[in-house]
Amino acid sequence: MDLLDTLTAKGLRGDVPTREEALAVLATTDDELLDVVAAAGKVRRKWFGRRVKLNYLVNLKSGLCPEDCTYCSQRLGSKAEILKYTWLKPDQAAEAARAGVAGGAKRVCLVASGRGPTDRDIDRVTDTIDAIKDADPAVEICVCLGLLSGNQAERLKAAGADAYNHNLNTSENTYGDIATTHTYADRVDTVQKAHGAGLSACSGLIAGMGESDEDLVDVVFALRELGSDSVPVNFLIPFEGTPLAKEWNLTPQRCLRILAMVRFVNPDTEVRIAGGREVHLRSMQPLGLHLANSIFLGDYLTSEGQAGQADLDMIKDAGFEVEGAGEATLPRHRADVAAASSCGTAASACGSGGGCGPCGGHAHAPASASASEDTPASAAEDTDASDGELRSDLVKVRLRGAGTELAPNA
Ligand code: SF4
Repeated sequence: MDLLDTLTAKGLRGDVPTREEALAVLATTDDELLDVVAAAGKVRRKWFGRRVKLNYLVNLKSGLCPEDCTYCSQRLGSKAEILKYTWLKPDQAAEAARAGVAGGAKRVCLVASGRGPTDRDIDRVTDTIDAIKDADPAVEICVCLGLLSGNQAERLKAAGADAYNHNLNTSENTYGDIATTHTYADRVDTVQKAHGAGLSACSGLIAGMGESDEDLVDVVFALRELGSDSVPVNFLIPFEGTPLAKEWNLTPQRCLRILAMVRFVNPDTEVRIAGGREVHLRSMQPLGLHLANSIFLGDYLTSEGQAGQADLDMIKDAGFEVEGAGEATLPRHRADVAAASSCGTAASACGSGGGCGPCGGHAHAPASASASEDTPASAAEDTDASDGELRSDLVKVRLRGAGTELAPNA
C-alpha cells in the first residue's frame, strides 16, 4: 500500500506526514488494520525499540472542581460517584507513589483537580516532590495542576519536577464544545509556561468525544508543533453522571487507527496510551503496544484500570520490555532538544492540558459519518455497538489506592 510505505519511510527518517496522509490513516478499513499497525510499529521500534515506559498516577486532590469540562468525572455538577477528597499529605502521596514505583513505574504523575494551583498549593506539591525524591531520587515526576500563573512553573522546576502535563484535548475549533470556563488558548499558554521554565512538556488529547477526523488530526499536529515530549492519548471514559455518559463512539479498531496516526505524526515522541485503554481497546490492548511506547500502570485518577500485574504480563506476553529507570525514553536527538529547552532556548511552545488527563470528553457531531452500502469496514463500523447506552460493566469507579484505606492495584 503506497500510503503505508510512504508513512513508514517518513517515520523512519523522523519526518512528519502531510495532513492528508494523517487523515488517510484514520480512513483505512478493518481489512487494512494489521498492515497499518505493522507500518506504524516499524516507526515505533526505530525510535523506541521494544521498550514500554510505565507511568503511575497519584490523584492528590479528587473531585469538586469548579471547571466544567464535559468529559470529566470531577467537573462542576458531576453526579459521578467518584472519590472526593482534598489534598493528600506529602507522606500519603509518597506512599502511593512508592506502590507504583515498586510495580515498575519510572514516572509518577502528581495530579490535582481544579482550575489551577494557588501558591500554597505549589508549596504542598514541593513538599510532596521532596518526600518522593528523598525515597528514590531516580523517579521522574510529572505534575498536573491545571492552569499555571506567575512563576509557578519555575517554582515547580526548582522543586525538582521533571515534567508538566496539560492536555490540549481536542482541536482549537471544537474546544468551546468541551469546556466554557477556560479556553484552548489558556491551555496552550500553560504548556508554554511549563516549557519555558524548563519542564518537559506532556500534552495530549482525548478521542471519542464525537470529534471529526479533522479535529483529531488538528490537535495531533498542534501537539507536534508545540513540541510536546510526551503525548498521552486518552479514549473517553463515559462516566455515568457526566454529560458524555452515553458517548460510545470508539471501537478497538478505531483506537488503533488513532494511535497509528498519532505515531506517524509524532514518530520520535513518547506516545502514551492513557485513560480508556481497557475500556475501549479491551482484548486488543497488546496491539496498542506496537504503536505507543508508554502506558499507565494500574488505576487512573477516578476509574479503575486493570491490575498492575496484568499490565506487566501483557507487556511480557506481547514481546516488549519495561523501560528501566536508567534508560532514556526519548531518542538522543529529542533528549538534546529537551535539554536545550530546559536552558530556556527551545524554539517554541509545548502542549498540555488541564490537570486532569485520563478522564473523558465531549462532542458535537458524531465522529463517524453515516455509512453507505458500499462503505467498507472502517467508518461504517467505527461506532461501538453500545452507542447511546451507559456501560457500567466497562466503567468502574476507583475506590482503592490514593485517598482510601485500601491498597492500590499497582
Ligand atoms: S479536566 Fe481538570 S479542570 Fe476540567 S473539570 Fe476535570 S479536574 Fe477540573
